[in-house]
Amino acid sequence: MTAKSTIGFIGLGIMGRHMAGHILAAGYPLQVYNRTAAKAAPLVEQGAVLAENPGALAAACDVVITIVGYPADVEEVYFGDNGIIANARPGTVLVDMTTSSPELAQRIAAAAAGKGLAALDAPVSGGDIGARDGKLAIMVGGAAETFDSVLPVFETMGARIALMGPAGAGQHTKMANQIAIASTMLAVSESLSYAEAAGLDPAKVIEVVGTGAAASFLLNGLGPKIAARDYAPGFFVHHFVKDMSIALSEAERMGLDLPGLALARSLYQKLVDGGYGEEGTQALFRVYCGLTATGEAA
Ligand code: NAP
Repeated sequence: MTAKSTIGFIGLGIMGRHMAGHILAAGYPLQVYNRTAAKAAPLVEQGAVLAENPGALAAACDVVITIVGYPADVEEVYFGDNGIIANARPGTVLVDMTTSSPELAQRIAAAAAGKGLAALDAPVSGGDIGARDGKLAIMVGGAAETFDSVLPVFETMGARIALMGPAGAGQHTKMANQIAIASTMLAVSESLSYAEAAGLDPAKVIEVVGTGAAASFLLNGLGPKIAARDYAPGFFVHHFVKDMSIALSEAERMGLDLPGLALARSLYQKLVDGGYGEEGTQALFRVYCGLTATGEAA
């Protein structure tokens, strides 16, 4: 890979539009594709080329990056009609940054190897703000030489980039991340629910305890949104339920009991069932308010 290598980017949602923007800003020729083509317009205005489908994009690129929604979306863009695997040129590096299953990452790596391609799973953490600021944590699974070859592209999007092991290790690391977030979101919601019930000003509580031992990215970053009943999405509830479901089935496969994760998934599922799946993960607080539409105590 060189500074002139053409990069392809598929999935221009909350995360992908910023990540692709950083690659373009770094000077790489960029091809883009998204299910809803209109979301590509800002990047096309800045010089990116809009491809007709994932296969056409893959055939024209040296590195193909994807960050779509669900494992089923990943399957479609890699293995579907006009998909990446069937159309990429030998030597192309495929990088899936979607939060998806370790098993699918291994399947993509095996299919890629069979066609003379290389593949990495490289999910991210840091949210929409981390994507916007180019400060994501990027956790990678795959071969060291492939990792080294695309590191300069990762560096346009991330601040902490690590090779975690072979294919699937990036996704396993992301699951460890999501498991930590699941119970922390319960803790943040319960802490603020208690503070409000005790008649405290939640903003002031966050300000004070957010500098002590309870400080966290989630309390300090999402706590103020909860206090303001701002449930606009940075990270969709329905995507988080997807992640927790993958983590629970991996844990089950390993014979591991994770009761905190199971409880968090069941409470987040209530949000989805209540019609709040398109809100941000801080909307968990609604559960502690009786799931009222305003997010205020019932
Ligand atoms: P999003 O806004 O829904 O973006 C996903 C994008 O992928 C959408 O633009 C969607 O197209 C496109 N897409 C889906 N299936 C496709 C397909 N088959 N072909 C082409 N394009 C397709 O979600 P996001 O928040 O950016 O999250 C993307 C992934 O990153 C998810 O796996 C999520 O779990 C993970 N993630 C998110 C965050 C976060 O804070 N948001 C943080 C870390 C990881 P449409 O425009 O047509 O819907």
